[in-house]
Amino acid sequence: MIAIVGGGISGLSLAHALKAKGREGLLLEAEPRVGGTIRTTTRDGFIAEWGPNGFLDKEPKTRELVSALGLEGRLRAAEPTSKRRFVYSKGKLHEVPLSPPGFLKTELLPLSGKLRALGDLFVSRATQDDESLASFGRRRFGHAAAETLIDAIQTGIYAGNYEKLSARATFPILAELEQRHRSIVVGMVKLQKEKRRAGEKAGSGALTTFEGGLETLVSALADGLRDSVRLGSKVTGLSLAQGRWKITSLTDGTSVTAEAEAVVLAVPAFAAAELLRPLDAKLAAELEAIEYNAVASVQLGFWKADLPSPIEGFGFIVPAHEGHRVIGAIYISSIFPWRSPSDSVLFNCMAGGAVRPDALGLSDEQLVETVLEELRQLLGVAAPPIFRQVVRWPRAIPQYNVGHLARVARIEEAAGRLPGLTLTGNCLRGVGMNDCIRNSAALADRISMSGRG
Ligand SMILES: Cc1cc2nc3c(=O)[nH]c(=O)nc-3n(C[C@H](O)[C@H](O)[C@H](O)COP(=O)(O)OP(=O)(O)OC[C@H]3O[C@@H](n4cnc5c(N)ncnc54)[C@H](O)[C@@H]3O)c2cc1C
Repeated sequence: MIAIVGGGISGLSLAHALKAKGREGLLLEAEPRVGGTIRTTTRDGFIAEWGPNGFLDKEPKTRELVSALGLEGRLRAAEPTSKRRFVYSKGKLHEVPLSPPGFLKTELLPLSGKLRALGDLFVSRATQDDESLASFGRRRFGHAAAETLIDAIQTGIYAGNYEKLSARATFPILAELEQRHRSIVVGMVKLQKEKRRAGEKAGSGALTTFEGGLETLVSALADGLRDSVRLGSKVTGLSLAQGRWKITSLTDGTSVTAEAEAVVLAVPAFAAAELLRPLDAKLAAELEAIEYNAVASVQLGFWKADLPSPIEGFGFIVPAHEGHRVIGAIYISSIFPWRSPSDSVLFNCMAGGAVRPDALGLSDEQLVETVLEELRQLLGVAAPPIFRQVVRWPRAIPQYNVGHLARVARIEEAAGRLPGLTLTGNCLRGVGMNDCIRNSAALADRISMSGRG
């Protein structure tokens, strides 16, 4: 038997893949529900996500999972208008240019910044192994493009500090393009051509969710796993004796022990550290050193009639150097119009992140006021909201800082010395839902081939 600790998308998709291979598993989840950071509220006609809003429809393993669960008919892709994205700069929003003429016209960068960004065509390859995203961006595209565009791109995924994030760990494709083509711009153009030539059919790459929100996916996974999921079971102790693992959990206040040949920890790094400290203090320290940011997600709904103009596009990002508490806003009802009543709009605004953690110290009311002020200034939204939901994630997204990949290698090496133990989850090799699903599918293959459990 294989025990899986943690019922987020990593643990759930692993349990699903193992079950499909005929492996017996037991999934232990601390909370009374599965899903981890994936959670949906449906209220007054609004469908509000607590964490992720969707995944990019380009990962074959996610498509396979969706199809195995019979959910293809419930997939919902983003509206084409959501291709328009905005970045805040000097008091207003600017549309992110998607074409060379657009790049030449944009006011996001001064002329000197645009000319320097084109310097990417001539800059030589990196000599160092790992560097921060800020250093990578400045080296290739110059200061202005780095602090505006590169920081905005990472903020939309990691809400991190780009002076600390590792370029190689957060955007491996950039380092790969640099090594293969020297210039990132040339590499990207070639990559697009290669994809077109290969007639890539793996999906549109659009942000995608399900009818009913992402809860549909985690509920379907839990339904398929039925009795092999134990909710409200916080694992409090792990021990290994004669090749068998003893897993102690607190279920409804009672200590319960299960035995297994193999254990997979699909929990956040700090939770894995706590469980592994008695077995290997150095391994626990490596896990504990993975930082997390703090994010508040503020969902606000308004009557459409109260808005000065239609809200179109994906949303906006406020780069860190602008010094605002709000990280950005996603225009949910422009991307997925069915997630709010037809006479209303829904925004998912984020505050906090690695560079602005003090936002989490605000009360819910202050958070709503801070976000409302930003929406008023940038979009002219002055009306009171008719829907509000504030969700706090004190440890939201793991930060892949410089040195992360070397740390992951040390973690995996140390974990390998504890027979039958594997670590997975978003703290190691990718924070997106697609990464978690792909890594779990690969892990299920490895476990199945090793004959463990
Ligand atoms: C605000 C926010 C927005 C995001 N937006 C997107 C997005 O749009 N697209 C995208 O692809 N990704 C997004 N992400 C990232 C993505 O949601 C996560 O990386 C992914 O869901 C993590 O899944 P996981 O299973 O690895 O971890 P988690 O979801 O953290 O699950 C871990 C589980 O382990 C359980 N657990 C912890 N300790 C124990 C214990 N001792 N015993 C038993 N159980 C335990 C927890 O209760 C939890 O259920 C977002 C994340 C956040 C926070």
